[in-house]
Amino acid sequence: MGFMRRFCFQQAHLLSLFFILLLLLWAGLPSATFAQSPLTPATLQLKWKHQFQFAGYYAAVQQGYYREAGFEVTLKEANVDTDVVAEVISGEANFGVGTSELIISYAQGKPILILAPIFQHSPLMMLVRADAGIDSVHDLPGKQVMIEPQSAQLLAYFLSEGIALNTLQYRSHSFEIKDLITGRIDGLSAYVSDEPFLMEAANIPYSMFTPRSNGMDFYGDTLFTSQAYFEQFPEQVKAFRKASLKGWKYALSHQEEIIQLIREHYSIRKSEAHLRDEATHTFKMIRPDFVELGYSKPGRWLRIQEVYQKYNLMPKEVSLEPFFYVEQEKLDLPKWAYFLLIFLGGLASFLSFILVIISFFNRKLRHEVQEREQIEKALIISRNDLEQANKAKRNFLAHMSHEIRTPMNGLVSMLALLKQAPLAPKEKKYVEIANTSTGLLLSLVGDILDFSRIEAGKLELEKDVFCLSTVVKEILGVLAIQAHDKGLGLHAFLPVPSPPLLVGDRTRLQQILINLLGNAIKFTQSGDVCLDIRIASALSNNSDIVFEINDTGVGIAEERIAELFEPFQQQDASISRRFGGSGLGLAISSQLVALMDGEIWAKARPEGGSTFGFKVRLPRARDAKAAHEASETAKTWPHLEQKIGLYGLDLFTHRLIENLLLSAQAKVIVFKQFSDFADALQKEAIDKGVTSLNTDLSQALSPLSVTVSSAAHPTYFQHCLVLVPVGQEQEALIYEEAGFPLCSYPVVGEDFLSYFMPRSPETLLPSAPQTVLPRLHSQAPLAQEQTMQTLLLVEDNLINQAVARAIIEKMLLPFVLKIANDGQEALEILKMHSAEVSLILMDLQMPIMDGFETLKRILDHEDWSGIPVIAVTAQALQGDRDQCLAAGFRDYLSKPFVPEQLEDLLRKYA
Ligand code: ADP
Repeated sequence: MGFMRRFCFQQAHLLSLFFILLLLLWAGLPSATFAQSPLTPATLQLKWKHQFQFAGYYAAVQQGYYREAGFEVTLKEANVDTDVVAEVISGEANFGVGTSELIISYAQGKPILILAPIFQHSPLMMLVRADAGIDSVHDLPGKQVMIEPQSAQLLAYFLSEGIALNTLQYRSHSFEIKDLITGRIDGLSAYVSDEPFLMEAANIPYSMFTPRSNGMDFYGDTLFTSQAYFEQFPEQVKAFRKASLKGWKYALSHQEEIIQLIREHYSIRKSEAHLRDEATHTFKMIRPDFVELGYSKPGRWLRIQEVYQKYNLMPKEVSLEPFFYVEQEKLDLPKWAYFLLIFLGGLASFLSFILVIISFFNRKLRHEVQEREQIEKALIISRNDLEQANKAKRNFLAHMSHEIRTPMNGLVSMLALLKQAPLAPKEKKYVEIANTSTGLLLSLVGDILDFSRIEAGKLELEKDVFCLSTVVKEILGVLAIQAHDKGLGLHAFLPVPSPPLLVGDRTRLQQILINLLGNAIKFTQSGDVCLDIRIASALSNNSDIVFEINDTGVGIAEERIAELFEPFQQQDASISRRFGGSGLGLAISSQLVALMDGEIWAKARPEGGSTFGFKVRLPRARDAKAAHEASETAKTWPHLEQKIGLYGLDLFTHRLIENLLLSAQAKVIVFKQFSDFADALQKEAIDKGVTSLNTDLSQALSPLSVTVSSAAHPTYFQHCLVLVPVGQEQEALIYEEAGFPLCSYPVVGEDFLSYFMPRSPETLLPSAPQTVLPRLHSQAPLAQEQTMQTLLLVEDNLINQAVARAIIEKMLLPFVLKIANDGQEALEILKMHSAEVSLILMDLQMPIMDGFETLKRILDHEDWSGIPVIAVTAQALQGDRDQCLAAGFRDYLSKPFVPEQLEDLLRKYA
């Protein structure tokens, strides 16, 4: 824009200059066409009688230069009495020829204007007879001399030589050389170019004293006019000057012609020889070969002024400015050039019109740009505001979650303890409900925290090496219970053969799966939820793994799918009422998937229910151990070649298992009726020579899903594999006691097939089914001989203090608890009991002295620095853990925690 503006400005500037030029040219036109108008009479008053001294003017007349300039010029001779300056000022003459003395006239108030000094050097001098006894100007005093008018230069010369003017004997000038020749006078003012010729012709020896010899090199004959005439006819004056100079130029290069002209038209007073001599000297005075004709140098005039003023020949305070003629330069172009200029002028007008239009659009554009800039500024401001608001929101969330987590810690822990206490069934139920609510609340706080962490870009993924099936089994244990409670079938298919060990954030992967499977269970009232995992592509270093969850639930509306992955979006308002939830789960999942370079999707299933899926790219473990483990797990597809009977499976499970077994080349026999199954057992038993079949037991098989292997194992019943859905382990105990192998369901994959693989006798039966049983907590007291240690709890919150105390007592941990309400108190206790304290649990946010400061003091203390200090905090943001460990905390426990977590930690340091 700046460039455009500048460009237009320059264009406009150029244009205006162009127009000015054009105007000037137009102004110049009249002078060019002047010749056509009637001639103006003009008189040039000469300084003396006709002679070569005025050659240029004759030439100008003769050559028609004056006529071309519009003048009919009269050249007027002077006589003894003529006052040239007065003639010009009075208007008797329009122009005159003067000497350097003109400057004195001007200073005396005579309004004249110098047009052109023709003689660059003055020819004026003092001519004396050689026999007059005048060897130098100093001999002049007392001598008879004639000094002509306008000879101030000569006087200045005398004065500069120290000659008092009144010592000379003046005679009035007769302009007759014979007075000198005859000796009537001793000397006279004369021109170098004139009188010496006559003296020589008369053969009279003479001497000349020139001012030039004393450094007074003044201008000689000078063309001038009156200020009045100039003001009235500036153009004419200019034209006259120009024509005169042109005449001089001609005259000096055509001297002989002019000599003839003078004699023919003006005067025969002088002989040709005389005129020729004069011409020679005149040329030397003018020096057109060195100096431009008519050249007037103000500096030289100032020098002349100085000299005259020095000798009091002119007044002091005079401004010379109006005395000089300054010519306005104008172009003198041929006529076609004027037409060209007119054309260009037209073109320029057209261009300027275009420019006006362009500048109009420019202005509009500028205006728009300005508007846009303003909008941009406003946007930047609102973006900054938004960022500020977001920051404030994140801070608020982090702060609130901290505030909520602290009391939640009390709730969770106390409820956990209460659950273990002997309670009446009704109270037990209340506790259950309270427990579920706290669980929900915790997951909500967790979700909000996760979300704000991801939004703030603070969530970084861990890089664990993990086994996919383990990761899946871990979470399915929990989810299967939920599914079972709702009467839903939960199935999970792992890829066969199992993928190698992978690298990624196992916890976050589990979080996504829990979200999607949890939703599927939540939004399904009856039927099945099935997780299918397959390797989409296995590149050299990475595996693209697809997880797909199908359910038979309420389904999703196609048009709502996209927005479900936005935060706080639910299909409709009744969802949260019916099913609970915050609408954050899918948003978090999709962000986590994005962090894992993957994609997430949802589809409505035509037969009802929905499909949620995601794909992530995970690198394979590469280090040596991982590679070894990977090769262990990287088995080929199992080849069973067995007869396997299926009975009692629900349709969905049946189909999955049947497909799996068929793909492993097994021969599958499906028993629809129990009687068929019993018959088969019977037949098999007879074939094998087993005489007593425990029909009670086979009867007892009916409630559970059972697969029967009829393959080559000697003990008939040992080949009856019992699928134990997670959560029904208690009910399966009778089979375990009876020696049946149990297989935990829903996870099927290679693990499942491995039950049918030939194996060594000791590994023939899996000693314990690979279940995902919830952790059965050991409450065994620690060995009696263990010595009691002191645990220092630094915690300002009373609830948390009570929780810790209860856990330690309940878990029979070998600790005596000491409690400090803040860091300061902790240091006091350490001063007295540091020898006993073997572990410190420390909150971070406390009054008086916070956790970090207290830790610093402990670490700085020689006797205390070895005591492990564990940070316990409700600050659960990313980086808090790292920050704690970096500060010197030995471990980190985030609130709220379940008693087992604290117990684990205490046992670790016990
Ligand atoms: P929440 O489940 O806490 O409401 P989510 O972000 O996990 O939040 O899910 C957003 C919404 O997507 C749910 O409220 C529900 O309307 C819809 N949705 C998610 N999973 C399913 C599913 N398997 N079947 C039907 N609707 C679902």
